Amino acid sequence: MADKTIHFVSLGCAKNRVDTEIMLGVSGQVGFTHVEDPADAEVIVVNTCGFIQPAKEESIDTIFEMAKHKDGRCHKLVVSGCLSQRYADDLAKEMPEVDVFLGSSDMLKLGDVLKGSTPRLWVGHPAEHTIAATDPRTLTQRGHSAYVKIAEGCNRSCSFCAIPGIRGKQRSRTVQDIVMEATRLASLGVREHNIVSQDTISYGRDLEGRATLAELVSAVADVPGVDWLRLHYLYPEKLTQELVDVIRDHESVLRYIDMPLQHAATNMLKRMRRGHGGQRLYKVVDRLREALPDMVFRTTFIVGHPGESEADFQELCDFVSWAKFDHVGVFTYSHEEGTRSGEMDDLVPEDEIMARRDHLVSLQRPISRGKLQDRIGEELEVLVDGVSDESDLIMEGRWWGQAPEVDGKVYLVNGEARTGQLVKALVREASDYDLVADIVGADGEVDLPPDVEPVKRKRKLQLI
Ligand code: SF4
Repeated sequence: MADKTIHFVSLGCAKNRVDTEIMLGVSGQVGFTHVEDPADAEVIVVNTCGFIQPAKEESIDTIFEMAKHKDGRCHKLVVSGCLSQRYADDLAKEMPEVDVFLGSSDMLKLGDVLKGSTPRLWVGHPAEHTIAATDPRTLTQRGHSAYVKIAEGCNRSCSFCAIPGIRGKQRSRTVQDIVMEATRLASLGVREHNIVSQDTISYGRDLEGRATLAELVSAVADVPGVDWLRLHYLYPEKLTQELVDVIRDHESVLRYIDMPLQHAATNMLKRMRRGHGGQRLYKVVDRLREALPDMVFRTTFIVGHPGESEADFQELCDFVSWAKFDHVGVFTYSHEEGTRSGEMDDLVPEDEIMARRDHLVSLQRPISRGKLQDRIGEELEVLVDGVSDESDLIMEGRWWGQAPEVDGKVYLVNGEARTGQLVKALVREASDYDLVADIVGADGEVDLPPDVEPVKRKRKLQLI
């Protein structure tokens, strides 16, 4: 066993995962080796999520679970990310087991933490650092896929959301810096680049010269080796024609729209301070369908926000029935201190919230299934992620309509493929979320990227 060993647990969303990958890179620079088993680690880092109640509970449970290893080999437990950014003082008092607390932008400080003694409570201001192409980063995603975080923070004021208070105002990276990172990732074998941020549509508005998202997408899509470019977290405002044109016309930009809508009833959208009413959403979906008839649309909704009446919920259900989205995530409202919704007192009872969630999920399920069944007999391009989690005997991947970790998979049951290949696959079966297909052609041999580390990542919380 190496001398300097470290174990990471990454919680929450894809943006947090990028931060974990940077800390993993930092730890490698100062001579630490990542180990899969926390029992083998001298240092354990829990990169927490803290924006809604279930995420906070999961983070706290994980910290206590990891703290047990301090009876063994572990001599330093580090807690970083959104939870410690949000509740630094309280956690420091309540958790004597934790040796160092870092915040949500303190990834580079981990080097000093590993080298020697630093303050126990070392949580900086979120704006102190915005990730850059020069940050060390070790990839953790399987297959040939990675997230590219183009901005940090958010300037909006959605009533239910604690993120701006935790992560601060929006700070966009420059186009040049993002292109530099995409180039490096492509040189490591990453073929699928998934653009993430809190509010991707607002990219560049805080930069001198106000670079646009369309310019950025076009520049990244031109990087040699970027085969699939996917945009996540588009706020439902009017997309510029320039952006729609780039999505439609550029071969490597996927016609995959990930647009968290959160609700569809005008009453609720107003209460949520989303800056638009329900009619806008019908228009946005219509316009996108017209411009991109074969698009795949993912969205998320929150049910049970304070003041949500039966009639509001019914409006949401009507919208979901009308829109026929491909992928829908349904979240139950979480009453958060420090948010405007957290001060509202017309709460929906807990059992009613759960019933509404179940109803919306069951309304959407046959729609998702029907859309996948329509694919039977179609030949799709599939990026091979590797040997299937279900069986060592088959490979699995995703067609371009399935984003990593949040959508379903394609199980490749006949034919041969290697991880990282883009194969042509003929769909023969469909379930609620997954497809089964036969490989009918491949684009040549591809090897594993050299430095992928299997960091444990728990449940996906992907509200925004
Ligand atoms: S929900 Fe998204 S857009 Fe709204 S404040 Fe939170 S991060 Fe910003």
